[in-house]
Amino acid sequence: MNQIIRGVNTFKNRIKSNETKAIATLLDSWYDVEKAIRRELENVVLYAQELARQGITVDEYTLNSIDRWKELLAQVQKEIKNKKEFARVIEDMRDKGIKTGLGTADYVLDKLGVGFDLLPAREIDMYISMLDGKTPIGKLLDKAYGEASNGLKRGLVDGMAKGLNPLQIAKDMANQMGLGLERLVLIARTEQARAWRMSTLDRYRQTGVVRGFKRVSARAKNTCLACLLDDGKIYDVASDFSDHPAGLCTLVPILNTGRTVNWETGEEWLSKQSDETQRKIMGNSRYELYKAGTPLADFYQIKESEIWGPAPAVVPLKDLNSLTVVE
Ligand SMILES: [Zn+2]
Repeated sequence: MNQIIRGVNTFKNRIKSNETKAIATLLDSWYDVEKAIRRELENVVLYAQELARQGITVDEYTLNSIDRWKELLAQVQKEIKNKKEFARVIEDMRDKGIKTGLGTADYVLDKLGVGFDLLPAREIDMYISMLDGKTPIGKLLDKAYGEASNGLKRGLVDGMAKGLNPLQIAKDMANQMGLGLERLVLIARTEQARAWRMSTLDRYRQTGVVRGFKRVSARAKNTCLACLLDDGKIYDVASDFSDHPAGLCTLVPILNTGRTVNWETGEEWLSKQSDETQRKIMGNSRYELYKAGTPLADFYQIKESEIWGPAPAVVPLKDLNSLTVVE
């Protein structure tokens, strides 16, 4: 692989190692949240069982009207919001993402011979406010709370339906609440990756000597097909550069002079892989379609998500089938 791309990958590795550290911190702090609500959790289970004895079905609908349940949820929300580590981890990931992004851009620009007269980078705070403008940390934490409360509810309703003992139900609820932790981890990873891409692209734009950019995917065994098919495509510098949650693609510039980093595009790379690798990356049905003549580009689309914004995505099979011309 190209030497500059290898250099870019060292920045990607930095991003990955930050992820690992952030996950460890989030895990630790999540246990504190669990501990803080344990007693109330058990009380709610006992209360629910008492209601059941009185002939009241404890389903999702009933739960929403029970004060004791509402109090538990309020407590969970408060614990998540007040847990300083959660907000701090997200802030820290943004910060690191921005710095790594500026570092990535300056590294690539320097390799392309643009390094010597660069403007100073924008202040980190400016990037942070741009990120926060789109998704304030409070709102991101609300998402984690939403997942946690859904999990708690599911744990309680399922446990009651199965007639488990209170301790087991409380334990299951705590486990299910872990969905909130999963959401937090995803948020932290996504925020860092988003900051990384945003600051890199902004830096390219800021130089005034960049007219476009190209996606660099990880091109690893677990790289998704959508990112792979977008890898190496040329975009105008004014275009958005989006990725899906936790996506770790980055970008290299095309200078006004036409100078850029060249490598085999993801599509070219994929078309040269063994049948086995192709099948693994595309999945059976897409592999068969490809072998029958469907161009790889037909598998790629940009999909809009309400929560995460636009992102590369693989065209679902049902939509692909409708494209197939029946002879
Ligand atoms: Zn992807």
